[in-house]
Amino acid sequence: MNKGVLFVLSGPSGVGKGTVKSRLFEEFEKCVVYSVSATTRQPREGEVDGREYYFIDRNTFEKQIAEDAFLEHAEFSGNLYGTPRDAVIRQLESGHDVVLEIEVQGAMQVMKKMPDCVSIFILPPSFEVLEQRLRGRGTESDEVVERRLSRAKSELPLADQYMYQLVNDTISGTYEKIREIYLKHSTVVHQVYGI
Ligand code: 5GP
Repeated sequence: MNKGVLFVLSGPSGVGKGTVKSRLFEEFEKCVVYSVSATTRQPREGEVDGREYYFIDRNTFEKQIAEDAFLEHAEFSGNLYGTPRDAVIRQLESGHDVVLEIEVQGAMQVMKKMPDCVSIFILPPSFEVLEQRLRGRGTESDEVVERRLSRAKSELPLADQYMYQLVNDTISGTYEKIREIYLKHSTVVHQVYGI
């Protein structure tokens, strides 16, 4: 069995990353896994510890940074987020492709440490569309939405540091493009699904 490939997916909050990512896991569940991150943010309604994130407090997070437990970590909207290193390495070694859905600072760290990773940035069709989607989602307060929008403004110019930039006009169109990129770079998917 070949080793897995690491995919890094970024884009502003509300751009649709989560939806296309879930479709990839559904279609290729035997060979692609999601890396569950640690965060100091509070769980949203319906989020489960160990499924969406490992929800930990700041002290524990900082202790784990000191132990070098993270492949990358970053602060976003006042909370810390990080990718547990060992789990990712184990999955890659055991022949699974791994998808990280992370913000740009962390993505830059991963690109440096793991230069063979495949990086994808999803852009909104326009800033206005992003704002509508983020407000329409209704999961965050106005203050949090404002903070995320201003963060998106600073993230968008970094899109050209990624190997691929995709504009999310429609979820199905974007999924087709992600799927194509996935099939191009993964080696295990061809072994597992014979395609
Ligand atoms: P949310 O709070 O909406 O779940 O995530 C906020 C942002 O943090 C999103 O852009 C998400 O991709 C990013 N994020 C989630 N996990 C990680 C991580 O482990 N590392 C980094 N650098 N960003 C993360």
